[in-house]
Amino acid sequence: MSKPAERINMGDAKKQAISMIRSYDGPPVRIMEVCGTHTHELFRLGVRGILPEQVTLISGPGCPVCVTPPDFIDAAVWLALEKQVTITTFGDLVRVPGSRDSLASARGKGAKVEVVYSPQDACTYAKEHPEEDVVFLSVGFETTTPSSCLALEQAEREKISNFSLLTANKTMPEAYKMLQGSADIFLYPGHVNAIAGNAVCQQLCRQGISGVVTGFTAAEIVTAIAIALSKFKEGKPFFVNAYPRVVKDEGSPAAQALTDKYLEPCDTIWRGLGEIPGSGLRLKEEYASFDAYRRYAIPKMEGKTSPLCRCGEVLQGKCRPVDCKVFGKGCTPEHPIGACMVSGEGACSAYYQYGGVIK
Ligand code: SF4
Repeated sequence: MSKPAERINMGDAKKQAISMIRSYDGPPVRIMEVCGTHTHELFRLGVRGILPEQVTLISGPGCPVCVTPPDFIDAAVWLALEKQVTITTFGDLVRVPGSRDSLASARGKGAKVEVVYSPQDACTYAKEHPEEDVVFLSVGFETTTPSSCLALEQAEREKISNFSLLTANKTMPEAYKMLQGSADIFLYPGHVNAIAGNAVCQQLCRQGISGVVTGFTAAEIVTAIAIALSKFKEGKPFFVNAYPRVVKDEGSPAAQALTDKYLEPCDTIWRGLGEIPGSGLRLKEEYASFDAYRRYAIPKMEGKTSPLCRCGEVLQGKCRPVDCKVFGKGCTPEHPIGACMVSGEGACSAYYQYGGVIK
């Protein structure tokens, strides 16, 4: 059932930003909300409803579950069914379709799949179940990767040898470059910049790619859009950190150091975007014992998606979820065909939950 969008409170500091957005009289502009959380918040707050005709919001690829390719799910299913490994994962990944099975359907064939709330929970599960081989499905961007590394620290410290990671961690900079031209302005996810810092966005600006970093409250989101529209009218590339209370130029050196200790850049495949050189993270050689790919010699997986699914185009901002023929018919959150309908941050799920709003 569709959820009603909340009405933005007009009686506070957001009023000026909303008024600026409503009175925008510049050229047509496409703003890509890179982050899936922003997609959902934009719907929930009803922001699309206050945009002038010439302003279009496009959903981007910033949902970790959505961009995780099907061969990763196939590998997890293979580990569970062929190697009798216990898979620990965040809940969203359980229903993402692989080539044949999701982890949910693999459960019916005997797969052991435990939903956890953090990588540390997964590591603790491994400690408490020494008779099981436990693999955590490590997906996510700059924001969540350090917590997987914290779990590795715990495993090292407590000598937990039955724990490893199946990694599909990704970083945003190369994806931003690949998405150049998909939108006129990126709405950068504040939590990513809080870790990674602003240097990449500043560099992209020098290459002509405009963007504004924003937080997640209604005031922060509408303020960022108002700033973006006002700067766009000036006709020059811009970068604005509209989330300075959290995002510093240098990001979080401690989180960056933790990631750098265990992981190194690699080429990786994004669902829908294909392989993006240097946009993935894998375990360093010295931590190979924590790397499920090496530990279990995982073979190459099929990695097939449904021919009906347009997640790839949705993730690149090339089409809207409602343009997919099976949106809301064959594909619903209860019976998803693609990852974008499963995840709590997926664009198709957002459009579905909020009634297939077209703008
Ligand atoms: S509606 Fe379903 S099948 Fe269509 S693009 Fe979205 S997730 Fe894929």
